[in-house]
Formats: sequence, C-alpha cells, structure tokens
Amino acid sequence: MNNHNASVVPRASDNVLEASRAASTSHADRLIASMDRSGYASATLPDGVVFAESVEDVVRTLQLAATNRTPVVTRGAGTGLAAGAVGQAGEVVLDVSKMNRILRIDPVEQLAVVEPGVLNGELNAAAAEYGLFYAPDPASTAICSIGGNIATNAGGMRCAKYGVTREAVLALHVVLADGRELRTGRETLKGVTGYDLNALITGSEGTLGVVVEATLRLRPLPPATATVAAFFPDFASAAQAASAVIAARVQPSLLELIDGQTLEAVDSALGTDYRSKGNAFLLAQTDGYGAFLEQDVLIEAIEPFASSYEKATDPDHAEQLIKARREAIPSLEKLGRVSIGDIGVPRGRLAEVAVGLEEISRKTGVRIFTVAHASDGNLHPMIVMDEGDSVTEGPAKVALGEMFYLAKKLGGTLTGEHGVGLLKRDWLLPELGEVSLDVQHAIKKALDPDGILNPGKAI
Ligand SMILES: Cc1cc2nc3c(=O)[nH]c(=O)nc-3n(C[C@H](O)[C@H](O)[C@H](O)COP(=O)(O)OP(=O)(O)OC[C@H]3O[C@@H](n4cnc5c(N)ncnc54)[C@H](O)[C@@H]3O)c2cc1C
Repeated sequence: MNNHNASVVPRASDNVLEASRAASTSHADRLIASMDRSGYASATLPDGVVFAESVEDVVRTLQLAATNRTPVVTRGAGTGLAAGAVGQAGEVVLDVSKMNRILRIDPVEQLAVVEPGVLNGELNAAAAEYGLFYAPDPASTAICSIGGNIATNAGGMRCAKYGVTREAVLALHVVLADGRELRTGRETLKGVTGYDLNALITGSEGTLGVVVEATLRLRPLPPATATVAAFFPDFASAAQAASAVIAARVQPSLLELIDGQTLEAVDSALGTDYRSKGNAFLLAQTDGYGAFLEQDVLIEAIEPFASSYEKATDPDHAEQLIKARREAIPSLEKLGRVSIGDIGVPRGRLAEVAVGLEEISRKTGVRIFTVAHASDGNLHPMIVMDEGDSVTEGPAKVALGEMFYLAKKLGGTLTGEHGVGLLKRDWLLPELGEVSLDVQHAIKKALDPDGILNPGKAI
C-alpha cells in the first residue's frame, strides 16, 4: 500500500485498505476522490482509495468491506455531475479506472466486451477500425468511463436516434455488495429469461453493484452524415424550430440547442464567432443513406424560425460545429464554478422551459446558461457562480429546485442523464412518490442489506 499512515484509533476501513494491494491513503488521492465535476466537494476526505486492477481486486475489496461494514464508493473517471462518485470520512473509494482493457470486438455480432475503466472515446476509436461505433456519446466522451456511463445510464447527442446507454447494454458482470459475482443479460440481441437485471443495474449509480465487465452493442458507422447549423433571434424560436423538426417526422441523429450567453462563452474559449450570428444556435445532423434527403426536410422545418443557417461543407467543418456543443460546459467552467441542471420535458415544451428559466433567473438572481439535447427534451440549464459559492445551498440550490418544479409542471423529470447522486435527492419524493421510493429501497435492501454500496446516493 502507498503512503499509508497507520491511524492511532483503528478504523473499520483500515482492514479494507491494509488488505488491498493497490490502496492509497495519500492526501492527494483522497482529495481527488472527494470531488467530481459537479462542483461538489465533500467536507471530509474518504479514508483511502483502492485502485482495483482486476475482478479479484474488486471481489476482495467488497468481501472485506462487507465483513468490516465499511461503505464503498465506486469511482470511474470522476466526471460525474451529480456528486455520485465522491467519498467522505469513514468511506473507502473503489477506483476502477485502471481496469481499462477492451477485451473483444466482434464485428459479426457487432458487440464489444470491455472493462469498466475504458473511456467512451477509446471504445469508439477501437470500434471505428471495424466500421462500427458505440452510440451513447456524452459530451465528455474523451474523459468518461464506460462503467460510469452504465452506472448513470448516460446519454449524449446521438441518443436522439440510437438510444441511451441502457439500449446499448447487452450483458454485465457485476460484483455485489457481499463479493458475489452476478452475470446479467446475454450476448444475443433478444432474450427475455428472468427479470431484466441489465436495466436494473444500468442507472443504479453504484448503489447495487460494481460493474467489472460490460458487453455492449455496436452499430455500423453511417455511410453519410449531413450537418447544418442554424442561428435564431432568441432561444424560444430555436426551441420552436426543434419542435418543428420533430413534428416533421424526420429523425435527426443529433439536434442540439445552445443559448446566446453560452455561445458567447464558447466563442471566447474557442476563438469562434457564433454569437455574432444569432442569439441561439441549433445544430442538427442526419445520417445514413438518406442523410441529405432528410436534411432537406429538416431545413424546411427550421427555416421559418431561423435568421440564417449554414450547411457543413466537409467532415472537418461538421466536427468544428459539433465542438461548439461539446465544449459548452468546459467553456463555462472557465467563468466560475458551474452548477448543472439536467431536466427533461416533453419535446414540444422546450420553448415554455425557456420562458420559465428566465423567470427563475429573475427570481433567484442567478445567471442561467442553457444547452439542450433538443430531440429528447433534455435541457442543461447551468448556473455559473463565483469559485467560493456552494452548489448545495443558497441561490444555486434554490434555482435547481425551481428548475425541477418547472420541469414537473410541464410533465417532465428531475434528471435526464446525469443521475441523482447526492445533489438531487431532495426532489426524489415529489417526482417518484412514496410507493415507487419504497420499492426502490426494498430492491436496495435485497441486494445490499448492510447499505455498503454508495450509501446516501441516488435513492
Ligand atoms: C464536460 C462534461 C460533459 C458531460 N456531458 C455529458 C453528456 O452529454 N451526457 C451525460 O450523460 N453525461 C455527461 N457528463 C457527465 C458524466 O461525464 C457522465 O455522468 C459519465 O457517465 C460519468 O462517467 P465517469 O466514468 O466519470 O463516472 P464517475 O463520475 O466516476 O461516477 C459516476 C457514478 O457512477 C458510479 N460508477 C462509476 N463506475 C462504476 C462502476 N464500474 N460500477 C458501478 N458504479 C460505477 C459512481 O459511483 C457514481 O455514482 C458530462 C460531464 C462533463 C464534465
């Protein structure tokens, strides 16, 4: 073990850390493990971090944790936006980022078998060599892990057409709270034997088991893509254009909305000049053999609302336009501490959200920057604060709550893809209701009776 200073008073977690080959109690490792990208930082540091390199490491850690009743927080790449992977005093963080091998790509069955620490972008690069791709593509593709994607049921831009992570998971190898190994799902595309445990584990935010291997569906890379960027006088008209695209029954593979303030931040980070072209930006891509035919229908739908639009002239130009969306969060992070909302509403109600968000900004005095996966009604209203400000109290917390109630009023949800973690638990009951929450706690109790896995998170 690295840098392990024996405590004066033995802690239950020492038994877990001392038995692990690759455990660290260094201040630096514990500090990293107390934070993620949500802006949240635990008030205390976890007792240590186990860097698992194999399934055996994970099994052993959980067996020891079960025996010693030590809470374990599983961590992938730490890019989460809900404070799900953060540890605190009394807890051990189980970091699986070193389990990062792509074990198999099967081009005939169009699937990949990977360890949890493989980065989303790495899997896509490997699949591309076979003319395939892994569809769920969070904007954090270059830095987030497949295990984290599964645990949060991550979404992304292409999910509009190809579905979220749950739709891409064929089978999982999971280590349960007591160290037993569970295999869920199967390699075949169809299969309905037993309850759907893939779906149960996917999105469970590290509270039901540790994913140590995943079999994932790949898809053929589309033969063509067509990209268009349109500019609008305001966010509401861009939202109306997005709704018009959906009403036109065309299926974009990507339909992303960015408001004027965020465009300004992107321009200053990337040296682009999108803001001068409009006060809102809608990026749309169609793909497949009919990409350009579909693009014509799409342009017809957005033209009545747009001030101008440009078609991408080649793949580099398309990539440049997509980069504006991918870099939205990092660009805002340059301005201060960012608290990110993740509400979902029925797709036809995006324009109403824009009006509601303006009202929330007025009421709470916070500045709200918004990007949205428009094709699935998933908005990320982002509050930029001063570095010292808290994401868990004060105006930011009030505004996050108001955003949830706005979404709920419009028939929507608290979180579309980032998860609940620690940050959104206050609003679980109003969305789920008592019966659903009771059932969820009963499932947790059945799989993790001592409450060892990621306690206090997600449900
Ligand atoms: C710039 C930026 C852009 C982003 N864009 C998107 C986006 O477009 N769409 C989106 O969905 N998210 C987005 N995110 C959020 C984040 O990248 C995703 O939630 C991602 O899935 C987290 O992966 P991770 O490996 O970093 O997980 P972590 O942050 O390490 O963990 C997240 C959760 O998963 C659990 N977990 C991690 N690994 C495992 C495992 N092997 N087994 C069991 N539980 C595990 C943790 O306990 C925690 O609850 C973005 C984040 C950033 C910083």
